[in-house]
Amino acid sequence: MTPIQLAAGTVLTTAVAGSGAAAYAALWPQSQIFGRVLVAGSNPNEIALTYDDGPNDEATERLLEVLARRGVHATFFLIGSFVRQRSGLVRSIASAGHLVGNHTMTHPWLSLQSSRRIREELAGCNTALEDAIGSPVRYFRPPHGARRPAVLRIARELGLTAVQWNITAFDWNPLSAEEILSNVTKGIERNQRRRRGSNVLMHDGGHLGIGQPRLPTIEATSRLLEQYEASRMKFVTVAEWD
Ligand SMILES: [Zn+2]
Repeated sequence: MTPIQLAAGTVLTTAVAGSGAAAYAALWPQSQIFGRVLVAGSNPNEIALTYDDGPNDEATERLLEVLARRGVHATFFLIGSFVRQRSGLVRSIASAGHLVGNHTMTHPWLSLQSSRRIREELAGCNTALEDAIGSPVRYFRPPHGARRPAVLRIARELGLTAVQWNITAFDWNPLSAEEILSNVTKGIERNQRRRRGSNVLMHDGGHLGIGQPRLPTIEATSRLLEQYEASRMKFVTVAEWD
């Protein structure tokens, strides 16, 4: 048995019904029809906190403090062009024991790009990360969750496993920490009922540039860790499900 969740049969059936369904599947985070994608493990007491679109100066630095205080390791999907500008911060993320992943060089919609551009985006971010942390990168998350067979094929050729999510914090909207925490907690409870692990999509950065305001996400993270501190819940990186 693989610990990776497979898409529901209904989705596979829908997918062969027409190209419209395929386009939908390209955006549905847990769809497997275009190839293997890592979502979550089968232990409902495991949570992977994942943060996209960094590194992002103050927000990332505060997040590292919050995680360190509770001894929790998270997964960071970083944008290569920001990595080039903030390599010291990227080294801080990796040396604190967090998992660092590829989120492309410039955050385009990969499903709309040529194979050549997809390769440049993924390889460029790999090189930026490897220059910063000195070790190879094994995971990537497509911007906007969008993908097509070429994206997954090229990623595989570069030694990358695609990672999606099964809880959306919706924290790219201007939400309060309470609203973000509520979105995440509801998702974790839903996953526990369905007996699966929780892969939470949050953002410590924003793809429009370094300096995006993300402190509500950091505050929500702090409260989430407090909320589950005395519980059986265990925080993992996505590599522990691979
Ligand atoms: Zn992103």
